[in-house]
Amino acid sequence: MAPKKVELDIAPLLSWFPVPGKIPVIAGPCSAETYDQVMEDAKAIAALGQVGIYRSGVWKPRTRPNSFEGNGILALEWLLEVRRVTGLLTAVEVANTEHVEDALKFGVDILWIGARTSVNPFSVQEIADSLKGVDVPVMVKNPINPDINLWIGALERINQAGIKKMAAIHRGFNNYESSHYRNSPRWEIPIQLMTAIPNIPLINDPSHITGNRELVPAVAQKALNLGMHGLMIETHPDPVNAWSDADQQVTPETLGKIIQDLTIRMSESKDREMLDRLIHLRRVIDSIDEELLQILAKRLKVIEEIGEHKKDHNITIFQLERWSEILNTRSELAEKLSLDTEFVKRIMSEIHKESIQIQTDMLKEK
Ligand code: PEP
Ligand code: MN
Repeated sequence: MAPKKVELDIAPLLSWFPVPGKIPVIAGPCSAETYDQVMEDAKAIAALGQVGIYRSGVWKPRTRPNSFEGNGILALEWLLEVRRVTGLLTAVEVANTEHVEDALKFGVDILWIGARTSVNPFSVQEIADSLKGVDVPVMVKNPINPDINLWIGALERINQAGIKKMAAIHRGFNNYESSHYRNSPRWEIPIQLMTAIPNIPLINDPSHITGNRELVPAVAQKALNLGMHGLMIETHPDPVNAWSDADQQVTPETLGKIIQDLTIRMSESKDREMLDRLIHLRRVIDSIDEELLQILAKRLKVIEEIGEHKKDHNITIFQLERWSEILNTRSELAEKLSLDTEFVKRIMSEIHKESIQIQTDMLKEK
C-alpha cells in the first residue's frame, strides 16, 4: 500500500547544492584510495564545470571482511585538499557517531547515510542524535531492502534532529533473482517516496543500481525522465583498477560525455501555449477516468446481481469456463483496439478478483 503523506520541513535543494552545469551532479570515486587518485579524479571532475559536489567513501562497508575498508581520517585530509584546490564541496558516507564527529571535525561539507545503514533504525537514530544542533546537509540512501517506510523513517529521524538540508538517494534494492542490474531500481518505490514527501529532493545513483558502467547513462536518463532532481555517479581515473566497485565506475571524461548527452526534462514549463494544451489534455483524461470508474461501478452492480442469483441457486462463484471465455474474448477485443493484450489481461484479472471477493462476501451473509 502507498504510504501516507509525510510533512517534513526541508530546505530547497539549490540552497545547499551548487550546480555549475546543467543539473545537480555529485561525482567522485567509490573509495578514496590514495592521495594521487583522489586529487587526479577531483581535478578532472572540476574541469568539466558540471559537478558541484565531490563524493568519496572513506569508511567502506564491505560485504566480506579482509577487503579494502577505506583510509578513514587520512582520506579526510585529502578531501580538505580537494576543496582547497578545486572548490568542489565534499561528501562522505557516515555510518556511526564517530564517523559524523570525524567528518565534521575535518570540515566535510555534506554527509550521506549508506544503504546498509539506512536499513537499521538504531544506527540512523544514533547518527541523527549526533547531528543535533549541526547545520550540515544529509542525504539518505534507500535501504537495501525494498521497504519504503524504512526509507521514509530514516528521513524523518534526520529531519527531526533539526536537519533541513536533506535529499534522498535512490541506489536500488537487493536482488535475489538474477538480473542485469546489481541492485534492482524498483522505480515505483522512489515514485512512492516523491508522492509521500513531495518536497524531498531525490538524487539517483545509477552506478550502484547498474553495477555496470555501460548501463549508467540509460538509468541516469530514466531517472531524469521520471522527474528526479540530480545524479550521483562514481568516477575513477582508472576504473578497471579501482579498489572497490571497479565494474561501475567511469572516468571523469566519460562522465562529461554522459552529462552532455542527457536530455533535461523540466517538471514545469513557462511556455503558455504548451501549458494550456497540457491543461486541456489533463481535463480530457479527468473526464475519461470518471467515465471509467462509473462503468466499473456499473459492472460491479451486475456482479452483485449475479451473486444473488448464484446464491439462490447454490452455484459456485468461480466458474473456470466463464473466466476462460472472458479472457479470450477480451484479449481479442484488446487486439482489435490496438491495446496490449497482457495489459488488458492484467486489468481483467484485477476486476475478476474484485468480483469474486464481492460474491464471496455475499455468500457469507445469511
Ligand atoms: C557508495 O556510495 O559507495 C556505497 C557504499 O553505496 P551504497 O550505500 O549505495 O551501497
Ligand atoms: Mn561504491
